[in-house]
Formats: sequence, C-alpha cells, structure tokens
Amino acid sequence: LLSVRNVHKAFGQLHVLKDVSLDVMPGEVWVLLGPSGSGKSTLLRCMGELEEVSAGAIFLDGQLLGIEEVTPPAWKFWDRSAHLQKLPGAKRAEQRRAMGMVFQRFNLFPHMTACENVMCALRLVKKWDKEKAKAEALKQLEKVGLQDRVDHYPAQLSGGQQQRVAIARALAMDPELMLFDEPTSALDPELVGEVLAVMKELAEGGMTMVVVTHEIGFAKEVADRIAFMDEGQIVEVGNAEQVLSNPQHPRTKEFLSKVL
Ligand code: ATP
Ligand code: MG
Repeated sequence: LLSVRNVHKAFGQLHVLKDVSLDVMPGEVWVLLGPSGSGKSTLLRCMGELEEVSAGAIFLDGQLLGIEEVTPPAWKFWDRSAHLQKLPGAKRAEQRRAMGMVFQRFNLFPHMTACENVMCALRLVKKWDKEKAKAEALKQLEKVGLQDRVDHYPAQLSGGQQQRVAIARALAMDPELMLFDEPTSALDPELVGEVLAVMKELAEGGMTMVVVTHEIGFAKEVADRIAFMDEGQIVEVGNAEQVLSNPQHPRTKEFLSKVL
C-alpha cells in the first residue's frame, strides 16, 4: 500500500533520513520507535506528503507520491527536484486525502463544535451537503465513543476526547491509511488509554496504520511490524516479539532498557 524506497531527507546540511526503505502492506500496523531526533516525525511527514524527500521515492498504491512517473526512474538521482515534474495539484490532493493524519497536538478548530470539526473537511473538500456531512460526522464520533459530546467545543472536552475528535475527523475522509505521530504524548496519563483503545479498535477493524509512539504496551499488543530508528536509519525491523523481546541491535537494546 505504501512503499518507501531508499528515502533520504536533508534540511540544508542536516541529513535527517538516510536511505530508509519499508513496505506497509494493506491492513498492517507499523510502529516506529526510536530516540528523540532519530527522524521518526520526518519520515511520517514524508509519508504524508507534508515534506518532500531529498532522494528516493515513496509509492502509494504503486503510484509515485507527489511526482510524475518518468523513465528512466529519475527519482534515483540525488537532487531529484531537478529531474522531476510535480504532479498537478488535484492529483496531489487526492493522494493526500488517501492518508489521514493525527498529531500530538489535536489541531481542532476552537470555534467549532466536535461535530462541526469533523464535518468541515467533508463540506469543503468532498463538497458534501450539510445533511450528509453531519450524518457521517455523527457516525464517526460514535465510533470513537463521543456520541454524547457532538455539540461540545474543544475547550469543553478533555485532551483525550479532543484527540478522539481528531481521529474521527481523519476517519470521516475515508482514508486508506492512517498516520499517527505521538498521538498520546501530550495527554495526561489517565487519558492515554481511551485514545489507544480507539486506535486498537481501528487496527482490529483492518485499518492500515503507521504509528510513532513511545507506548510500548500498545506496540506489543497491536503492531504487526516494529521499526526501530536511530540517527535517520531503520536499524532494526521485525514483529513485536522479535524487536521488543529479542532485540538484536545494540541501540535497540539500549533504548528498550530505558523505556521498559
Ligand atoms: P522526537 O521523538 O523528539 O519527536 P523524531 O524522531 O520525531 O524526534 P524528527 O522530528 O524527525 O525526530 O527530527 C529529526 C531531526 O531533524 C532533528 O535533528 C530535527 O532537529 C531535524 N528537523 C526536523 N524538522 C526540521 C525542519 N523542518 N528543519 C530543519 N531541521 C529539522
Ligand atoms: Mg517526533
């Protein structure tokens, strides 16, 4: 579904991602682990097309992300921007829409109710009429357990509830893939569980997900694949059992000994 091929990302002189490759199959849940600054968010942002990669390529459903297909494959050049044609805006928007994103901060519109927050993109992007958008918003809010909070404003909701609204909003767009960047790390400890429960349910429903998180318990229970990143590279990848219980790489061992 999502294929990351030899991706590099540099911010000026800072080489943040160094030859990262991974393949996310339909229905798989990937958890990205790693120390602060190892490039997890950057990788996720590249996947979500919020950042352009410096070299390499990302494929969504076999289609290059954000750029036109050319032969010979010009994306193999280091300075790929000189060789590549960007996809037209409408096509890029379509690719972006296939991916739902949830961040550490909930980014809800404060002047809109939970329901209006979920409806917003359906109205603006999908051009749905009010009734249809509202019905979908209510359905998604119910899915995340917020059916009795639909008319509340973000300020009237707990952090965990706000984050569930953010998840409902992403789900309403009917994405093929969900990307989560530390969705629970801004929450009070007692609110983490409710958000993880929603994510777990989503995973069990077959949603394809890539999740950056420090919640090892979640990773153990839900991840099909865990990738451990260090200094811009994936140094170890495997199933939860392999990576968490029997890590091979010294950096993985060191990291786990600190967080477990
Ligand atoms: P954390 O666990 O703290 O969230 P991370 O693994 O998500 O860390 P990234 O946010 O991907 O790490 O950052 C990797 C490196 O890239 C860091 O050194 C960071 O300072 C740098 N970086 C990230 N975004 C930018 C940017 N827009 N411009 C310049 N440098 C950046
Ligand atoms: Mg990060």
